[in-house]
Amino acid sequence: MSERATITLLGAAGEVTGSCTLLDTPRGRVVIDFGLFQGSPEQEHRNLQVPEIDWPHVDGVIVTHAHVDHCGRLGMLPRLRCAAPIFATPPTADLLPRVLRSSASLQVLRHEEWRNGTTPIARVIDPPPEPGTKSKTSSSEPPILYDAHDAMLAAETICPIEYNVWREIKPGLRFRFHDASHIIGSASVEVAFILNGIERKVLFSGDLGPARSPLLRARELLPDVDVVLMESTNGARNFTASSSSADALADVVQRVAARGGKILAPTFALGRAQTLLLRLAELSRLNKLNGMNVYLDSPMAIRASELCGRYPALLEPALRAAAEAGNDPLHFAGLQHLFNRRQSLKLTKSAQLGIILAGSGFCDAGPVLHHLAALVADSRNALLFAGHQIVGLLGHSLLHHAKLIELKEGMFEVKAERVHLEGLSGHADQGDLVAWIGAREGGTPRVILNHGEQASRVALAGAIRSGLGLETELPDFMKSIEVL
Ligand SMILES: [Zn+2]
Repeated sequence: MSERATITLLGAAGEVTGSCTLLDTPRGRVVIDFGLFQGSPEQEHRNLQVPEIDWPHVDGVIVTHAHVDHCGRLGMLPRLRCAAPIFATPPTADLLPRVLRSSASLQVLRHEEWRNGTTPIARVIDPPPEPGTKSKTSSSEPPILYDAHDAMLAAETICPIEYNVWREIKPGLRFRFHDASHIIGSASVEVAFILNGIERKVLFSGDLGPARSPLLRARELLPDVDVVLMESTNGARNFTASSSSADALADVVQRVAARGGKILAPTFALGRAQTLLLRLAELSRLNKLNGMNVYLDSPMAIRASELCGRYPALLEPALRAAAEAGNDPLHFAGLQHLFNRRQSLKLTKSAQLGIILAGSGFCDAGPVLHHLAALVADSRNALLFAGHQIVGLLGHSLLHHAKLIELKEGMFEVKAERVHLEGLSGHADQGDLVAWIGAREGGTPRVILNHGEQASRVALAGAIRSGLGLETELPDFMKSIEVL
């Protein structure tokens, strides 16, 4: 009887969170990513519905990068009695224990706040939400998926593997990482296994960076493989050249400084924070910060920024040269790191003009909330959004239409200028994705699309068909497909 290999999408099928894929081969079984479902309370409760696979007999868990939608459920592995090694690139292996620890403490904190009735308020009052829209302040009980002890046990099984080095998991089953240029340490995963006496290969793209990242070295060419599982986050979007202009940031800084205001940038710690810092470093060197200090209010973002200096070979060539000469590309005059809540709260009382980068990027939790309370009602200030916002969360409303919001500190009219800075995405756009699958080293692989809203998957499938004459597959959640 001939041997078969199957792939099952256990998350991120027709959506962008909860990444998790099972590859089942006769030589062994690997799980690629185990990320959190994010967004509404209903989405978060899906994290409790763990895929019913034989977790104790998984041979390896391979993580593409340290974003929580790809790694945030790894802390559940000890309770699932999965003791398989967690393989990651060295920068990802460095970040993972912190990500899991902070995710565990956030889950416990949110649960305690819910039980005590002290859940932070972060909602729009005017205009009222659409019927059926549920905010984060919903009355449903937030789940605790794992605690700090589980996170520590999971972290003990992390095994760093360098890029482009084959690692055997079991006889006849091996893998290697390729740089995906999405965030520091991000990777595509090439898994090779013997099937019917021949070595076959499947590549999992993970999140792909743009063709030219301002921060990271170029992503690697797609190797010669039989099957590709490819992300489609921005499958329906193309960024225009003008939207990526650094001039837009310089304009905002100049405008806000001239009227004596401050800028609050709700920022994601891994990726977006570093790209913004890079732009601000350029402005600092050109003396265009107009006397504004820059405050990085996120220990996780500080750590990820340090990693960029520690792994110069992973940076864009000019930045690599600077880093190797001892010049940290993400450090500049006027940048201050805030390491704790006390420093963060002190900043809200400061009269000093400044640019504050604080999480969460969605404005649903974290220090950004008390900065909002201090800044949102003053028309001299600006809210700077540099990335995608999820409908239903406060960040999306603040960017688009909110007039009156409620926070723990009270009600606030939204008078600050809203600025949407595009072109800083760490994701490839449609053109980049088509180029990636088109510029491969080998023959024509079977292509399966995941990690994108359904409309994005369909749009990318159309673009790949018209641009390359290649058909793709869009499997459903939890459906196993025989790939080889
Ligand atoms: Zn990502």
